[in-house]
Amino acid sequence: MAKIEVRPGDETKPVALQMAPRRVVKPPRHFADLTPAERAAVVEELGHKPFRAKQLATHYFEHFTADPADWTDIPGAAREAFASALFPTLLTPRKTLQADKGTTVKTLWGLHDGNRIESVLMRYPRRATLCISSQVGCGMACPFCATGQLGFTRNLSTSEMLEQVRMAMRSLALGEIPGGPTRLNNLVFMGEGEGLINYKAIMACIRALVADQPEGFGMSARNITVSTVGLVPGIKKLAAEGLPLTLALSLHAPDDDLRSELVPINTRFSVDEALDAARGYFDATGRRVSIEYALIKDMNDHAWRADLLGKKLNARGRGWVHVNPIPLNPTPGSIWTASDRDVENEFVDRLRGHGIPTTIRDTRGSDIDGACGQLAAEDDE
Ligand code: SAH
Repeated sequence: MAKIEVRPGDETKPVALQMAPRRVVKPPRHFADLTPAERAAVVEELGHKPFRAKQLATHYFEHFTADPADWTDIPGAAREAFASALFPTLLTPRKTLQADKGTTVKTLWGLHDGNRIESVLMRYPRRATLCISSQVGCGMACPFCATGQLGFTRNLSTSEMLEQVRMAMRSLALGEIPGGPTRLNNLVFMGEGEGLINYKAIMACIRALVADQPEGFGMSARNITVSTVGLVPGIKKLAAEGLPLTLALSLHAPDDDLRSELVPINTRFSVDEALDAARGYFDATGRRVSIEYALIKDMNDHAWRADLLGKKLNARGRGWVHVNPIPLNPTPGSIWTASDRDVENEFVDRLRGHGIPTTIRDTRGSDIDGACGQLAAEDDE
């Protein structure tokens, strides 16, 4: 079948996405950027007893509040000093969009330097998942992804990522999402950005996510997923961290010719190199790797590609991987569409025929442009 050609930068790109380069300012220091020891040191520098750091951590990581009015166990003057030295406002909600009767919420956040990012909270009957951004925009330029069309503006700081998490946890705890108060179970680095490029900051973020309360949010590393285009050195580094995080590899094609078109970084790290690194991740962590595969009509959804993928995965052993095909979500200006249902079913059946566990990823939030590949924070001014 004929391949449809579309390149980033084509005139198909809508005006809204052709944004001028933005002002970039390093975010101010925030409590959540610091390790527990650093928090205590700063509190002492401010002339207070180090145990105040633990009180602040309890407010932040257990009660999800950064509002000095809530810190009733801390004397008034100290509250003000801590607030101004350690709790600058980093994220301001600019817009929220809801779908699925309010159980899917996409928030557009304004950052301190005027940049914008998005996060998506999804509540299911038995769990709640938050998808966060790790960068403003993304430099990976995958042509089927809305964020890829934005280009890269800057990395987020650790606290800018943790603030996305805190506000979601707070919203769930306050019962703002239909279904009663609840907790956040899963966190995925699948919003804007390529997290492994912002490695130091995402690792510090993950350390704070998994640290026991009140030092951190007390999440389980198993419930945290880092998704990547396949940056081999980053995957190797992550494998060596000694944390049972889930790794997701955005593959989208089993052959280099097509993958280099869909995921341009493939010219640097090939399909085989990315798969070897993914297999190495499983060896180091025992965690089954997810392969993400957006099914694009007449582009990458051929039965022979399912067979080739099955073959390449099995060549690296059994039981180490599962595949998450996801029907392509529409993005502005793109002429690509999701595969037909029967083609999708055939693709899944073929993979299963090779013994590869395969589950179709849902497209939650697609009606509010909040699904995979649709995050492209636009200016609301
Ligand atoms: N940069 C990382 C994190 C982004 S995760 C990565 O690429 O993995 C977002 C996921 O959505 C990735 O798997 C990405 O390939 C996928 N995606 C991008 N655009 C999409 C679209 N239009 N439809 C479905 N999935 C898409």
